[in-house]
Amino acid sequence: MEKTNQKLDMKAADEKYLWHSMKPYNPNATMVVKKANGAWVTDSDGNQYLDGMAGLWCVNVGYGRTELAEAAYEQLKELAYFPLTQSHEPAIKLGEKLNEMLGDDYVIFFSNSGSEANEVAFKIARQYHQQRGEGSRYKFISRYRAYHGNSMGALAATGQAQRKYKYEPLAPGFIHVPPPDMYRRPENETAEPRSLSSVGDIEQAMTWELSETVAAVIMEPIITGGGVLVPPENYMKGVKEACEAHGALLISDEVICGFGRTGKPFGFQHYGVQPDIVTMAKGITSAYLPLSATAVKREIYEAFKGTEEYEYLRHVNTFGGSPASCALALKNLEIMDNEKLFDRSAELGNQMRADLQTLLQTNPYVGDVRGKGMLIGIELVKDKNTKEPLDVQLVNQVIGACKDKGLIVGKNGATVAGFNNVLTLSPPLSIETEDIRFIIETVKDALNGLN
Ligand code: PMP
Repeated sequence: MEKTNQKLDMKAADEKYLWHSMKPYNPNATMVVKKANGAWVTDSDGNQYLDGMAGLWCVNVGYGRTELAEAAYEQLKELAYFPLTQSHEPAIKLGEKLNEMLGDDYVIFFSNSGSEANEVAFKIARQYHQQRGEGSRYKFISRYRAYHGNSMGALAATGQAQRKYKYEPLAPGFIHVPPPDMYRRPENETAEPRSLSSVGDIEQAMTWELSETVAAVIMEPIITGGGVLVPPENYMKGVKEACEAHGALLISDEVICGFGRTGKPFGFQHYGVQPDIVTMAKGITSAYLPLSATAVKREIYEAFKGTEEYEYLRHVNTFGGSPASCALALKNLEIMDNEKLFDRSAELGNQMRADLQTLLQTNPYVGDVRGKGMLIGIELVKDKNTKEPLDVQLVNQVIGACKDKGLIVGKNGATVAGFNNVLTLSPPLSIETEDIRFIIETVKDALNGLN
């Protein structure tokens, strides 16, 4: 075999060596990214693109922050590794910082990915109930359309059949209910929390499954990958009240909604609830290094304390909370504080959404524009009366037109029944205002090109 050396043809070598996630194989569509700065990435051919998705909704402080590289470098020199079966300073300091950001008293368990943070949450929830003598509680309720990760438990929690059916059977014990969808199934926003029908769906599932078998509800405050579904104001409060009434825990999956994406440190903070467990990843390091965390209310943690051997959480990982990831995360959170990125996300993101909402009047295919902060979904339909999803070829045409003009936008929803019709925007929170203008103009032009 001829050895590829020095000057690799990157696309050819990519085709030869790498297996990419998700998309059907198409070497012409693969972008080999070489470098990035701020909100902009440059590919191996020298083309520049504004990354309107911040990678996978994760590079919250933007690319090219040398101080993050330096924080990791300094830490690697001082202490490259030690397992968190014992402890080290960067993890302790980060635990303290997260506890402060969460607004109540939480204890932090570190892992490597969002999926793993959710797996840890499931294990903690089940064992917590066992230790309180309620071992019958093993089921989890989640919503259709939500994504919770790629591993067998987190995928079981996921409510997107097309991502699952090739790998079944997954972990048993996961029940799904319809999500709130204010575009297709509007609810009275002022209804009392537990009167909302989408909360009723969860309570019915709890009742029919028998409350005493339910361990927890897992939910993103705003469903992101399933098409940016902003719930009624009282929904999360209603879910929390239902959980309390039925003895279940509430897990808030903040893997995307956390770290300013929606304009507050965590998504649940919009909704006046304090979840029992909070899972987070992505923005915690702005994706510069892998890290995730499962934050657990202190009273749950206390149930694991004791001298008996069986009372320990039987979960260990090698890399979780590695010193360099934690040191980098601390610097990342410092940048967010110094640059007031959460407020920036709220102000500029909400303005961007308001500006894009003018498309509702001017473009026949734009059925809904929704979101919070720097998290925006634009739902495309064939017909505004029937709300039938726009054909995916046309959605792809819009995405291609954006890319031709130098803008990366996302496509989300859930491919079942053609619901892959939501354009998504989730740029770095540090994005410059002129770059926001570029996004707005480019998206408008691309959508108006459908006429
Ligand atoms: N939860 C949510 C809401 C996510 O969006 C994701 C990933 N996109 C995950 C969990 C899983 O995170 P990871 O890919 O880091 O395993």
